[in-house]
Amino acid sequence: MKPAPFEYHDPRAVGDAVELLARYGDDAKVLAGGQSLLPMLNLRLARPAAIVDINRLPGLDTLRETDGRLSAGALLRQRALERWASGRAPILAAALRLVGHAAIRNRGTVGGSLAHADPASELPALLLCLDGSVVARSRGGERVIPATDLFRGPLTTSLRPDELLTETRWRIPEIDEGWGFHEVARRHGDFALVGVAALVALGGGRIERARIALFGAGPAPSRAEAAEQALVGQRPDPALLAEAARAGAEGLDPQADIHASGRYRKSVARTLMARALSDALRRAEAHDR
Ligand SMILES: Cc1cc2nc3c(=O)[nH]c(=O)nc-3n(C[C@H](O)[C@H](O)[C@H](O)COP(=O)(O)OP(=O)(O)OC[C@H]3O[C@@H](n4cnc5c(N)ncnc54)[C@H](O)[C@@H]3O)c2cc1C
Repeated sequence: MKPAPFEYHDPRAVGDAVELLARYGDDAKVLAGGQSLLPMLNLRLARPAAIVDINRLPGLDTLRETDGRLSAGALLRQRALERWASGRAPILAAALRLVGHAAIRNRGTVGGSLAHADPASELPALLLCLDGSVVARSRGGERVIPATDLFRGPLTTSLRPDELLTETRWRIPEIDEGWGFHEVARRHGDFALVGVAALVALGGGRIERARIALFGAGPAPSRAEAAEQALVGQRPDPALLAEAARAGAEGLDPQADIHASGRYRKSVARTLMARALSDALRRAEAHDR
């Protein structure tokens, strides 16, 4: 199948791109890596009047590290972030390795994955886990949207149609933070049925900090705050991890689809949470003071 007809624009300046978005509003779609948008156009699930191709915009594929924080331009390819992360943020590298296949990550962008907001996507959950945010630019100026306010539901964010996502910001995990990342997918490269990212730091044998994010377990990525609360201040042991995973999965109400029932996803989320926490603690123990 082929897309419905559309006007094609490839602006050369961010200001021109946001002018186009302001002009077309809901009738325009931004084209970044095209790995999600093109299938939707071909299947006519999206029929925009105009495409605003941002691939020729300068300065949107940057990668900068300052004071423990990472800034990645919206157009940075997922593969470029993966290469950086394999040295500096192994939890992010582990997540990115499971985003489709290398060919998809060579084209797919960091901003595109966040703007697309598939509930089963790895990067939105990582943005939550790493206290991240995005910068959105419109004709009216810029605003910073924390990850906690960005993801509203399946393929739905708080970005307005006249806003271009220009930058993504992430906390880089500290050296003493242990990490765990697990997902279950039917085949390598498929979207996950469910996945969990966990970060844990220890001090004096007790859990000082815990961050857990889930994907594929609801309409949008979420933090397992009940599990985090069950862990902080405690001395880790297998019973504590099992109890935290139970608490973290308790309120979940995952969607059912042709691949899995909601009940199955909830049960897998609990198991993966326990595994991710166990990995994170094992790695954190090496740095416990
Ligand atoms: C076979 C296959 C398997 C895949 N498996 C996975 C997987 O396991 N995990 C996963 O997370 N993803 C997976 N993907 C999706 C892939 O990660 C996409 O790259 C990503 O979802 C979208 O990024 P993109 O740059 O290609 O965006 P595009 O497809 O160009 O755009 C996607 C959406 O985001 C909007 N958008 C893009 N950039 C911006 C911006 N800067 N500002 C505002 N809006 C913007 C577009 O308008 C569109 O609505 C898979 C894709 C394929 C084809």
